[in-house]
Amino acid sequence: MIAFKIYHRRSGHCVLKESPLRMIPPRKIAFWGKKKEKENSRFRAFLKSHADPDELDQRFKSLHEEIFAAYDCSKCRNCCKEYNASVPDNEIASDAEFLAMPADEFKTRYFSGQNQNGDWISRGLPCCFLNGNECILQDHKPESCKLFPYTNQPDRMGSLMNTMEIAQVCPIAYEIIERLKQEYQWTPYGR
Ligand code: SF4
Ligand code: SF4
Repeated sequence: MIAFKIYHRRSGHCVLKESPLRMIPPRKIAFWGKKKEKENSRFRAFLKSHADPDELDQRFKSLHEEIFAAYDCSKCRNCCKEYNASVPDNEIASDAEFLAMPADEFKTRYFSGQNQNGDWISRGLPCCFLNGNECILQDHKPESCKLFPYTNQPDRMGSLMNTMEIAQVCPIAYEIIERLKQEYQWTPYGR
């Protein structure tokens, strides 16, 4: 729940009211993300020249924790629909064991090949490990999936471009960027 200031007509005062988190629905995020692309690019330039990197990390982290606590990712899964999983080679054996199949069969059934780092790339989109709205790897999903959209990770300043791109897929990343604009009192028309 998020607290909003609401004007109370009878008393003439502003009151704080709890309201459910309202965010862009997952099916509309591509449209709104694209629409905000230029604006977000300008906001990124503003942050680069005005924001303190440590403070920016703190603001990202705190918004990440607040919004993730209130949002149900199982109603979205845009990340699993838009990106392939990359599973490190040293996790293949334990993931195969978790799914109760030999490692060779696991590799053949679920992966299209390996990238330059030797990580195994899942087949097709949506990611082939997505079943309905749940990942069949559960806690065995790769760390890169667990950390997505990386908005609580260090060095947000160095990753702004990537975060702005992710904001065209992930409603949480989109919301964090919009809230940061408010926190920094930034508007597309100047501060
Ligand atoms: S992390 Fe983002 S894209 Fe993935 S399910 Fe949650 S809100 Fe959707
Ligand atoms: S491995 Fe699981 S969490 Fe990662 S993209 Fe595939 S379905 Fe989503």
